[in-house]
Amino acid sequence: MPELPEVETVARDLQRWIAGAQITGVEVRWDRTIRHPLPSERFAAELPGAVIQRVGRRAKSVLIQLADGRVMTVALRMTGALMVAEPGTPDDRYARVVFRLADGRELRYRDVRKFGRIGLFEGGSLRVRRGTGRPGRSGVRRRRAAVRETTAPYRVGDVFARHGPEPLSPSFSARRLADRLAGRSARLKSLLLDQSFIAGIGNIYADEALWLARLNPLRAANTLSAEEVRRLHRSIRKVLRQGITNRGASFSDYVGADGEPGENAERLAVYRRTGAPCLRCGRPIQRLVIGQRSTHFCPHCQPAPSGQGASDR
Ligand SMILES: [Zn+2]
Repeated sequence: MPELPEVETVARDLQRWIAGAQITGVEVRWDRTIRHPLPSERFAAELPGAVIQRVGRRAKSVLIQLADGRVMTVALRMTGALMVAEPGTPDDRYARVVFRLADGRELRYRDVRKFGRIGLFEGGSLRVRRGTGRPGRSGVRRRRAAVRETTAPYRVGDVFARHGPEPLSPSFSARRLADRLAGRSARLKSLLLDQSFIAGIGNIYADEALWLARLNPLRAANTLSAEEVRRLHRSIRKVLRQGITNRGASFSDYVGADGEPGENAERLAVYRRTGAPCLRCGRPIQRLVIGQRSTHFCPHCQPAPSGQGASDR
């Protein structure tokens, strides 16, 4: 599943290739790809004529900002990909939404398993319509249950209101991480995967950051020393930056907007390296399951917290 570095790679590619392009037509081939709040036919009708001003990222979503102020959000989820097809490129049977551009190219949203979602939001307010499908995980559903759905103003910011800070943002300091960890008894691995705690990190980069920080994934968040928090902060940012440099990690479906897999998978230290020697101490990497997620770590470099050992899996 694409995490921050993978989504950032896609966004940077698209910024280079489609910023300034005009959308002339939209074909929705799988209705459920279009998420709350617009029904797919309105989505397709409202986009022609729009000019793509800038492509960016928030959390694990690509943000396609239109010159008229609206923002299209693309959550790639499991197998989603955004690719630019030159004129004459054969059609793709897994393309769920096709955006035709004025210069003859197509921006294709490809998704084999169809878990990804695309939304279109006003920069200002937008009325949320009833019966257009459930909001995604990051929707306003839980945020303002008391507000009547038919009249609630809906801004793109609301989509990400429940997300935690961006780990590569200048404002994400070690101090801020320490504040967020304090008082939390959750295990580090679970907390790093929690998008409301910190945005953009998934299974790959959580394991990598904990290994680099020499912290056991079972450690309770509120047991870290100040030095350990600083190590974790540095490690999170380092593994994410390395991921972006290497254009993301591809294990199955992830590809950049150029259609090519990233090169970060072979540079990972622990993720999916069970039994292989630790790059630091040479002992075998182990795997355990925490919160139903595979977790890879070195038991020597990342010693278990006292009282939590093999029986606590
Ligand atoms: Zn080790």
